[in-house]
Amino acid sequence: MIPYENLKRLNAPFEADFRARFDEVIEKGHYILGHQLEVFEKEFAGYHNAKNCIGVSNGLDAIVLALRALNLPAESEVIVPSNTYIATVLAVIAAGLKPVMVDPDINTYNIDPDKIEQAITRDTRVLLVVHLYGKCCDMDPIMHIKQKHNLYLVEDCAQAHGATYKGKLAGTFGEFGAFSFYPTKNLGALGDAGGIICNEAMYNSALLKLRNYGSDKKYYHDTIGYNNRLDEMQAAFLSVKLKYLGQMNAHRQKLAGLYLNNLSPQYILPAKHPDHFDVYHIFNIRHPERDRLQQYLADKGIGTVIHYPVPPHRQKALKSIFVGKDFPVADEIHDTTLSLPCSFCHTEEEILEVIDALNHFA
Ligand SMILES: *Cc1c(COP(=O)(O)O)cnc(C)c1O
Repeated sequence: MIPYENLKRLNAPFEADFRARFDEVIEKGHYILGHQLEVFEKEFAGYHNAKNCIGVSNGLDAIVLALRALNLPAESEVIVPSNTYIATVLAVIAAGLKPVMVDPDINTYNIDPDKIEQAITRDTRVLLVVHLYGKCCDMDPIMHIKQKHNLYLVEDCAQAHGATYKGKLAGTFGEFGAFSFYPTKNLGALGDAGGIICNEAMYNSALLKLRNYGSDKKYYHDTIGYNNRLDEMQAAFLSVKLKYLGQMNAHRQKLAGLYLNNLSPQYILPAKHPDHFDVYHIFNIRHPERDRLQQYLADKGIGTVIHYPVPPHRQKALKSIFVGKDFPVADEIHDTTLSLPCSFCHTEEEILEVIDALNHFA
């Protein structure tokens, strides 16, 4: 049996450290907005050479708060990729703004910069890009469009902790980098968690208030805020794992290298480009008989996942917003993509076994 993911195994090397930090929190008896959160925020900001990190409840809230902090008129338009996890789009709606989708580049699976300008209107204020599967978007043309049209840039980095484009880290291009630390992410907590990095002091103080009932002084509320805080325990666990993020990403890259070098050319593999340092949150292949392939692997005890079976614009919850709009590239990806085991929990031997099975199918 090779599971797609095994979080118990993934976290096993950190258990002793987790227990030590857990004891520290228990000893201290301070559970919300305390020392552990301050430490983690400082470390995560430092990792990105960013001025501020604001720990929040999860990745969805990280995007919502970043958008809220911009204080835009209701119904302002936000450009989002059609190929993403639904959270990106839900965040725009939760922030009271209007998502406008742009299809991806079929080679990178990320938003196609050549299609962005035709989606820009008088009401467009934000480019919300997603560095999907652990690969940064094509940032040079995106930065050019941002400047030319005077737009804000928010980066959904939920799948891209440590990924770079021309040596620059995901999350450091725009006004905000929004991260999820959901347990399966490249930097994952032992529960829900998220964070936002930013450089502007003005945004930092807005976010500190937004996550805490609009307050930075107890019982004095300056704005309409939320309860979107990151708790001490998760912050402590994240601080343990952040030290190993480079190692964990290197492991995923080594496994991805095995796939890239050994899989049959029948499979469409993720693109590799020297400008991109990819961290393979997801290692996906594409195949016209994806469903039969997934069943074949399942019969051999190999777990795979489809990211994602239904694109956001075809979800029941969102369909009505995107009627009459076509996103054929997103459709094509969703119909043919399959994610293979490629986690910090997997060994090279396991991946070679997956490769054998795949090449046998081919
Ligand atoms: C996981 C994920 C999110 C949401 O993160 P949560 O912590 O689960 O709220 C947002 N965007 C993308 C691309 C994701 O993969």
